[in-house]
Amino acid sequence: MTIDPSRDLGSADALLIVDVQNDFCPGGALPVPGGDRVISILNEWADAAQRAGARVYASRDWHPGDHLSFQSEGGPWPPHCVQDTAGAAFHPELRLPESTVVVSKGTRFDQDQYSAFDETGFAHELSRKGVRRVILGGLAEDVCVRASALDAVKLGFETVLIRAATRAITDDGREQTERELAEAGVAFT
Ligand SMILES: [Zn+2]
Repeated sequence: MTIDPSRDLGSADALLIVDVQNDFCPGGALPVPGGDRVISILNEWADAAQRAGARVYASRDWHPGDHLSFQSEGGPWPPHCVQDTAGAAFHPELRLPESTVVVSKGTRFDQDQYSAFDETGFAHELSRKGVRRVILGGLAEDVCVRASALDAVKLGFETVLIRAATRAITDDGREQTERELAEAGVAFT
């Protein structure tokens, strides 16, 4: 599938920019290789989405300081994206339209949330706004992008991953994720 962002977007589309935060970019606490390479592409999509009347959402990992997903607490990850720290801020080169709505996740004390849809009410928001198609990119392809895309398609949204606008933690992760997403019915542009 090829979507031309300058021509093919409309009011039933939502652009979801997943976790383009300093900690997931080079120099951050949990950097995704080449993570900052997604930014200019997502800026173009965000501009086009705004012009076309499509909604723009930006998810962010937004952890309490001693979150259970951190290694110090027995979790799998180094501390990252702690609420109100510089690492949790969106990358300074990311240009979000003023109308962008932020979806915070990873705030729960009892479990981690990789997906922007995981008990955030986000699906309800999209339905309420008449969104039928979710187009997404961001970080990391094999973690939070993967989980968000799988939830989107499971919840009945047409779901499209902007392949050039996402990066995985590992090459194996990328391959495995793209196979899994394709099998689940996620399209790629
Ligand atoms: Zn996290």
